[in-house]
Amino acid sequence: IKKIGVLTSGGDSPGMNAAIRSVVRTCAFHNIECIGIYRGYQGMIEGDFKEMGPRSVNNIVNKGGTILKSARSKEFMSPEGRKKAHDNLVKAEIDAFVVIGGDGSFTGALVFNKEFDFPVIGIPGTIDNDIFGTSHTLGYDTALNTVVEVIDKIRDTASSHNRLFFVEVMGRDAGHIALNAGIGAGAEEILIPEEDLGLERLVESLEKSKLTGKSSSIVVVAEGDKTGKNVFELKEYVEEHMPEYDVRVSVLGHMQRGGSPSCFDRVLASRLGVKAVESLLENKTNFMVGLINDKVALTPLEQAIKGHCEVDKELLRVSDIMSI
Ligand code: ATP
Repeated sequence: IKKIGVLTSGGDSPGMNAAIRSVVRTCAFHNIECIGIYRGYQGMIEGDFKEMGPRSVNNIVNKGGTILKSARSKEFMSPEGRKKAHDNLVKAEIDAFVVIGGDGSFTGALVFNKEFDFPVIGIPGTIDNDIFGTSHTLGYDTALNTVVEVIDKIRDTASSHNRLFFVEVMGRDAGHIALNAGIGAGAEEILIPEEDLGLERLVESLEKSKLTGKSSSIVVVAEGDKTGKNVFELKEYVEEHMPEYDVRVSVLGHMQRGGSPSCFDRVLASRLGVKAVESLLENKTNFMVGLINDKVALTPLEQAIKGHCEVDKELLRVSDIMSI
């Protein structure tokens, strides 16, 4: 392997730039050429490539988003699109690629590998932390810190006005952000996609909080929480059952995906980038690099895609105890 391509694909997440920097510099360290592929698989199809040396990634370790841009590519879903992408890689003499993205991006890489026997390695980049084979995905820690910081601010206004706030955080299928940021920010209740605590229980718990002297409450709700109600419907429900409460809603949205990566994400990105390139140099392919028991480890892409990354249910109990 003499030339490695690197791309970011799917939704962006903080730490992607730090991972690009790591891939580029690890290539330079091993005297290998590195090519940046712009706009994910779409850029691969269009041949949107640029040579990257160690100085082309100066001052990006602290930047959110991705300098290579990201995209979702419908064309890459078709054999014709992938053939174009492969022709471009061959023309540019790229021998392997590292894709930084989520499970969709890994599925694309795997399909591509099967078709063309092309070496690929994945780095998990998504704030949702919903990928099997790593305790942390890139951007997750930063997103947690962002959410906690915002909830702290919401709490200031909640406690000044005796209000109940429903705060919606990202997580359509996974409650990692809600659960951890909820505990970190001292939420009274946390609603996640993995467990339906029931609406009566929610009201009961809020009643109990009030009786024990709490004048304001914060309920953190993951987008895909299992009650099936969104934050506005939850507000209506609680207002109906607890008319004395002044209920407000805050939907955090895309701000959770932005911002400068935390130190943890920068270090993780640096470690995963080194392992990704060095694994390709050892002729390993179809793996995802991740963090398992604090060590960088490889998981077959197929497992990373299919496996389910469970939330730690013990955290629900911790949250319950903390909100007594
Ligand atoms: P996010 O965490 O934001 O969902 P993701 O990597 O899962 O990130 P997707 O939009 O699902 O994001 O996938 C990114 C791209 O990967 C798609 O736009 C497509 O180009 C490619 N891809 C996904 N699934 C396949 C597939 N089955 N075959 C070929 N390519 C695919």
